Amino acid sequence: MNIQFFAPRFLDIGGGAVTRIAALLARLGVSAPLIVTDPVMVKLGLIRQLTDPLDAAGIGYTVFSQTVPEPIDTVIDAGVALARSTVIDCIIGFGGGSPIDTAKAINILLAAAPGAKLRDFKVPVSADHAAWPLIAVPTTAGTGSEATRFTVITDTETDEKMLIGGLGALPVAALVDYELTLSVPARTTADTGIDAFTHALEAFVSRRAAPISDGYARTALGLIGPHLRRVYQTPDDRAAREAMMLGATLAGLAFSNASVALVHGMSRPIGAHFHVPHGMSNAMLLPAITDYSLNAALPRYAEAARLAGFAPVDAADQSAGAALVAELAAINRDLAVPTPSGFGIDPAQWSARRAVMADQALASGSPANNPAVIRSGGIT
Ligand code: NAD
Repeated sequence: MNIQFFAPRFLDIGGGAVTRIAALLARLGVSAPLIVTDPVMVKLGLIRQLTDPLDAAGIGYTVFSQTVPEPIDTVIDAGVALARSTVIDCIIGFGGGSPIDTAKAINILLAAAPGAKLRDFKVPVSADHAAWPLIAVPTTAGTGSEATRFTVITDTETDEKMLIGGLGALPVAALVDYELTLSVPARTTADTGIDAFTHALEAFVSRRAAPISDGYARTALGLIGPHLRRVYQTPDDRAAREAMMLGATLAGLAFSNASVALVHGMSRPIGAHFHVPHGMSNAMLLPAITDYSLNAALPRYAEAARLAGFAPVDAADQSAGAALVAELAAINRDLAVPTPSGFGIDPAQWSARRAVMADQALASGSPANNPAVIRSGGIT
């Protein structure tokens, strides 16, 4: 068996980790960061949790705060222009997956030949080069982007949510501080939490799962499963926030190496065409796709259910698998996940775009990792 394993060089995980940003920059030998964040982080003053320690250490920085949720290529171009007109020697992505992915994409384009476009780097191309050391500081729990070799950016010309992967998208280091997530609103807490669960589950059942990714996926399932409802219902439950943050990062390590599967493959086009937040579109699909895929990898799904606390530890595979599907549907109800029409998607628009969404899903490669593989003509 050949295993290729990708991970950041350094992770500092735990409450207060963000206060150690200046020491981290010193260890990396850099001192002129471009901070990539979003307007909410600035408006709510959350960015000060990063900039106060930098100010205290006398480290100057440039801030790019034009990131939009589910980032788009034109915003990346604006970030590249700012980076090119400023003296920097590293990039810090501060925020949810959107600012971190924006930081990664800016970094990849900064290293590319003049005139290159992000679409030149989408899978199956390997985007292995980036200009500067990238440090990720996640504020949601979450995408796991702080630990992955992926960035997801929408091409505004084609409405395609492009998956871009390679060493160029892998952060050098991350500060994973659950205290930053205490302010995340309930809706985003739910969506990002289910996103993290989906990463762990899809990595665990992926056809590309391997012993190293399995270890991270198992631990992530055990951390996220019991805390999904708690963190939504009790936002200031610090133990639940901490478990979710660690779980999200470990799930990121798992899927960065085992890949995601059909849920993510179908979720990206829904997000791009109908502007559904990423975790929410995953959540809309997760129970049905798990049900559809169950018997193609029953022992794995059953183990996932037991690890997540959705089935008793001694439950037989068939009943544990059934409990997983039932519990995913119940979580969606309890966390108020809407259906596509409940979200406001026009059924006629949905039908009109179905074929192109299917093509984009298949082109991303993720569906091919699913235990029950979808091809143009049916299931294998
Ligand atoms: P997000 O970054 O879009 O943030 C959602 C909202 O929550 C924003 O308004 C943001 O300002 C707000 N927010 C974030 N942290 C907050 C905090 N601590 N307090 C208050 N508000 C806060 O959402 P996300 O789900 O973290 O990221 C989604 C993006 O990540 C999508 O584009 C998705 O495709 C991508 N993604 C990337 C990877 C990867 O490996 N690179 C994996 C999964 C998803």
